[in-house]
Amino acid sequence: MINETLHVGMRIGNDERDSSDGFRFQSINPSDGTVVATLPESTESDVDLAVSTARAALDGEWSRTGPADRQRMLLNLADLIRANRDELARLDSLEMGMPITRSRNSVDSAAAHLEWYAAMTRTISGRTIENNRPTERFSYTLREPVGVVGAITPWNVPLTMMAWKLGPVIATGSVLVHKPAEYSSLSSLRVSELCLEAGIPAGVVNVITGGRVAGAALAEHLDVDKVAFTGSVKTGQAIIRASAGNIKRLTLELGGKSPNVVFADANLEAAALAAVQSIFGNSGQICTAGSRLLVERSIQDEFVERIREITSSLVVGDPLNQSTDMGPVASQSQLERVLSYIHTGGEQGATLISGGEQLTDGDLREGCFVTPTIFGNVSNEMAIAQEEIFGPVLSVTPFDTIDEAVQSANSTQYGLSGYVWTEKLRTAHEMTQRLKLGTVHVNSSNIDPAVPIGGRKMSGYGKELGSEQLEEYLETKTVWIAQ
Ligand code: NAD
Repeated sequence: MINETLHVGMRIGNDERDSSDGFRFQSINPSDGTVVATLPESTESDVDLAVSTARAALDGEWSRTGPADRQRMLLNLADLIRANRDELARLDSLEMGMPITRSRNSVDSAAAHLEWYAAMTRTISGRTIENNRPTERFSYTLREPVGVVGAITPWNVPLTMMAWKLGPVIATGSVLVHKPAEYSSLSSLRVSELCLEAGIPAGVVNVITGGRVAGAALAEHLDVDKVAFTGSVKTGQAIIRASAGNIKRLTLELGGKSPNVVFADANLEAAALAAVQSIFGNSGQICTAGSRLLVERSIQDEFVERIREITSSLVVGDPLNQSTDMGPVASQSQLERVLSYIHTGGEQGATLISGGEQLTDGDLREGCFVTPTIFGNVSNEMAIAQEEIFGPVLSVTPFDTIDEAVQSANSTQYGLSGYVWTEKLRTAHEMTQRLKLGTVHVNSSNIDPAVPIGGRKMSGYGKELGSEQLEEYLETKTVWIAQ
């Protein structure tokens, strides 16, 4: 797919295409500022073509493909993704700076997700329902694919985001037009080729490249039945407005500002390691990153010292290096955003405990590297406690009582996920019940294709993963037959 000059096409049906007006944009390596590839900037007419190609596939041979065949295709695809692990991992690391060890895990997890959706393919069924005229009328439901799905995804875990949309599309017999983020399209384009190799008919999986124009055209398109979006709140709101034209179905996985609540009775060693991984893994660019550390005041000093020490041992550097713990942030604009929040944190009176700078030494000087940053004395009103930074910046806020911990944890507009560390069962139960979040993890951090995730409040609606996600890609048709 990638030739010597790194000019890459988008995938519509069987074809690798340029955009209708020939415009291209560059994908930049955030480690050193070099150009990784140039890609077509899709126009509205390219989006039209991708949608009509998907619609034709939906109405064609694909509609006669049964669950056993779709299951087999998903399993083939999972095998092909594993077989191309190194290439796919490298593409994500080159484009958005994810450490290579993490990118490889993310390829494995994408394959595991597809295997799980392969199993789900065989579980789809309607119901026969007893009605009140049992000798005259027969009533039942049919489950049908939702249809043409427009998937719009962010750049932070590119391959995983694609797999999460692709699995339920194939499992339900729907079709896909995927628009990955402009910073990180290469792994999705490669997977679209692997889909053909896996036996998925041409036109079922299409990948268009570009940014806001292509995303907006897809979200507005009157022949798209559903949009599955992962990204920021602001874009999510634009997509809700765009969906009104044909009352599209939506799932919205939006931002987060996840609380990580540590009680004095917790296993502090485990909690400290998890706190550091949660905010500095992937340079903080994870929607569920534990970006707000709420710590019981009696252990605050000891706990902050523990996390400061672990943080100081993190290796920040080239994402392609096996020993790197933290790569750059994903782009120049992301770097500026993170540095501006660090500046605001100081201005608003938070105490800088460690980090807080761009790394400009030696090999790292051309890249978007920021030191892992910890702020203490953060109050709930500060911007760094309320707004999603999506970077390696942790804010620490103490609490004295469980009520105060709950109030702090629930004090943002977000409701995606959170973490609680305690050895007391009673505290664990009380916290899980009182936190207004889509997911609460106690003494751990977890992800599994069988277990749903999703947001509340301004973190969005609809679920991904689990049998709940399959429902998001199915229609229910009710049938009445007079006997
Ligand atoms: P973003 O909203 O800027 O962009 C996301 C996608 O939307 C990109 O593909 C972009 O090109 C496209 N887009 C931009 N404007 C659009 C428009 N007007 N109409 C349609 N599409 C448009 O987000 P981002 O900066 O790429 O990603 C970071 C955000 O994603 C963070 O807020 C993060 O929390 C969120 N995220 C959420 C989850 C989750 O599961 N909840 C997972 C990962 C990331």
